[in-house]
Amino acid sequence: MNLNRGETTHYQLTSSDLERTKAYLAGSIADMRRMLRDAERNLAAEEDFRKVNELRVCGRCKFSRVCDPEVLRMPPGPPAPAELFR
Ligand code: SF4
Repeated sequence: MNLNRGETTHYQLTSSDLERTKAYLAGSIADMRRMLRDAERNLAAEEDFRKVNELRVCGRCKFSRVCDPEVLRMPPGPPAPAELFR
């Protein structure tokens, strides 16, 4: 269902769709686990992750309050061009 357009689309999943989805998920999980310091204990270290620190990204990030990136601490300047937020 596309809520924006109010349209519903029907799609019949195939076993190949499910296999591709499972493979994608397994790859994504493996990628995330590789970023951990200790995958067995599900432990990460904050210093292993570079902050994006870009207004275009951080301005829309749900974690910005806890992350407190420098880019959001800057004094307000002229309004950002609308195309940055598309
Ligand atoms: S605010 Fe979000 S996107 Fe920006 S550096 Fe922090 S976690 Fe990353």
